[in-house]
Amino acid sequence: MIITDTHTHLYSEAFDEDRDEIIQKALDAGVQRFFIPAIDSAYTDAMMDLESRYPDNVFLMMGLHPTHVKENYKEELAHVEQLFSERSFYAVGEIGIDLYWDKTYLKQQQEAFVYQIQLAKKHQLPIVIHSRESFDEIFEILEQEKGDDLYGIFHCFTGTFEQAEKAISCNMKLGIGGVATFKNGKIDQFLNEIALKHIVLETDSPYLAPVPFRGKRNESSYIIKVLEKLSSIYGISMEEIASITTENSKQVFGI
Ligand SMILES: [Zn+2]
Repeated sequence: MIITDTHTHLYSEAFDEDRDEIIQKALDAGVQRFFIPAIDSAYTDAMMDLESRYPDNVFLMMGLHPTHVKENYKEELAHVEQLFSERSFYAVGEIGIDLYWDKTYLKQQQEAFVYQIQLAKKHQLPIVIHSRESFDEIFEILEQEKGDDLYGIFHCFTGTFEQAEKAISCNMKLGIGGVATFKNGKIDQFLNEIALKHIVLETDSPYLAPVPFRGKRNESSYIIKVLEKLSSIYGISMEEIASITTENSKQVFGI
């Protein structure tokens, strides 16, 4: 069984004490592919280091996270663009709009999102979207930018059935993680109406640990709990879910 974690911040300080152990634990559990979203330039070195130590398992994205769009966002975007001119990545991510923490930079977040969508189109890469309390703002931009050259993953999807269908119609797969196991997570109630070909698995570790680890530090091996949940929702084996979602991830990332 090959499981793909399409979204894990393995370079985070949260793993500084035991990163290799955590990776080994995930590998032993069958999680062999880790897709790594960027946050901002402060983490670039740590991401590259991770990639050089696990070249067969770690696949990097590059982008500016919406909660890190601040006064200096133009410099940060220049850093992202510079890296894309030097080497390749598997996606532009994570990018989007987050109005949960702070609405001060909404305009700049919108601008950075559009800018990075253009970058993805230019490099023929998928985007990985971060959306928090911002469905309308995200879809406004997706509707305007959509086309055959725009595709990717709606990371940590927590919307309604209608929003899921809308995301899918914009060539997005739904990134499903720990929230699917939450009692009040809601998406488990309609997920069986969404074809599995639209789903990829993720942890978003160190955040959003699934039940029974909810509230603790998340790690890639916990993705098994998400697999278990999806297996019961769809009524097929964990192996089949792992295989289909890994295929879907290959389709998106091209590896
Ligand atoms: Zn993330």
